[in-house]
Amino acid sequence: MPFSSPLWTARQTRLGETFTWSRRALCSCHDAQTKDWNRAHSTCTGKGYLLVSQTVTGYKTVVANAGRKWELATGGRILANDFLVETFAAEAPLAEGDEITLTGGERLVRSAESLRRGVDDTAFYPIVTVYEVRRDTTLYTVVTHYSVSGNTVLWVFGQGPSTGQVYTVLYQGRPRYWIGEVLRRGTSAVPQMVHAKLMVPDEVRVGVGGV
Ligand SMILES: [Zn+2]
Repeated sequence: MPFSSPLWTARQTRLGETFTWSRRALCSCHDAQTKDWNRAHSTCTGKGYLLVSQTVTGYKTVVANAGRKWELATGGRILANDFLVETFAAEAPLAEGDEITLTGGERLVRSAESLRRGVDDTAFYPIVTVYEVRRDTTLYTVVTHYSVSGNTVLWVFGQGPSTGQVYTVLYQGRPRYWIGEVLRRGTSAVPQMVHAKLMVPDEVRVGVGGV
C-alpha cells in the first residue's frame, strides 16, 4: 500500500531517489538444521541464497551518508562510508542481506575494476559513464574497440585484449548497497531506517573468489 504522510512526502520529494531492490532469500538447497548448502547447486550458483528482484516502481528512498561521526545509542558505531537508508516499511521493508541500487542518477560512484576478457567482462555497478578502458599501456577507444551495454563491456570483433587477458575499466556507475542492521522498524508515520554499506566489487575482481 502506498504511503502518504505530508512530512515524509515532502522529505521524499526533496531528497528521495528511485531505486531497485532485491530480497536475499535462502535457496531451497539450504539446510535449516545444518545451516549448510549445496555448493554445486545450479539455481543459486552454489551460493545458498538467491537475490529476488522486488517491484518498487514509483517508490523512493532517502540515503544519507553516515559519515565518520555517527554514534548510535542503539546499533553502535557506524564507520565512514556507511549509509543510513530510509524507506517506508509498507513499500519496501528492507531486511538484512538485501541489496538496493539507486537508479535516479542523483548519486553516482566511481569504480576501477579489473575484468577478464570473456569471463568477467561485466562491471560491478551499473555503468553510467566509462572514463577509461586499458590494458597496461594500451588505451582502448569507445566505438573503435568497445561499446557498453548495461554494465557489460562489449568488444568489437577482432579488437581489444585476447580472451583470458585482464584489463581495467574506470567508470562512473549507479551505487549499490548491501543492507545491514535494521535500526528503526518504522511506523505508519515514520519511515524504516536501515544501516547500509556500499558494495565492494570483490566478486568481479580477478583472482578473488565469490561469496
Ligand atoms: Zn541453491
